[in-house]
Amino acid sequence: MRDIQRFIAGFRSFRNEYFCREDSPFCKLREGQNPGTMVVACSDSRTDPSIIMQCEPGEIFVVRNVANIVPPYESDTGFHGVSSAIEYGVKHLRVANIIVLGHSSCGGVDALMHADPAAAGEFIGRWLSVMKPVRDEVLAHFGSPDKKACTACEMAGALRSVRNLMTFPWIAERVNAGELTLHAWYFDMETGRLLSYLPQTKSFEPLASPCPKEE
Ligand SMILES: [Zn+2]
Repeated sequence: MRDIQRFIAGFRSFRNEYFCREDSPFCKLREGQNPGTMVVACSDSRTDPSIIMQCEPGEIFVVRNVANIVPPYESDTGFHGVSSAIEYGVKHLRVANIIVLGHSSCGGVDALMHADPAAAGEFIGRWLSVMKPVRDEVLAHFGSPDKKACTACEMAGALRSVRNLMTFPWIAERVNAGELTLHAWYFDMETGRLLSYLPQTKSFEPLASPCPKEE
């Protein structure tokens, strides 16, 4: 109950000090949203993109799931929650950027690396199996699922999700027309760095430096 009481108190403070302010972004947002960027992030409680990137309400359209996975385009009768959010972001909101935000110490990637994905849970295993080819490539390179290999898989997973975005025909069309840009980012919460995949170097490079050292 302590959590719930704190959340209610938090909402009161949000409403009084932010929502009801004369210059609150909600004055305009009540009428509708027009975010320029979509973010695909992990459900992990430490990786809320609005907090990490200090976004205002209305700035980013977000979908979160276990291990920030974008599955490939499929036109079957399944329930495609992630793909429907992507469809809304791209076709209706017409976002100009999609960021896939991977992160360090990802429990989903850890499960993928250390166990048969099918054994990870009733739904989790099948979901993680989207990234099985990435895991197999990383394990073939590193030999064992140690910390370095898990980090490599977290980064390679974000990149694979970006490549899977290109399997959606209406995304490929907008990217090729220069109307949409795709980004693979990585939040390293151990050092406090934000990295981005650069095609020129074929590696993740820092967008923002580590936490400043205290003098
Ligand atoms: Zn995660």
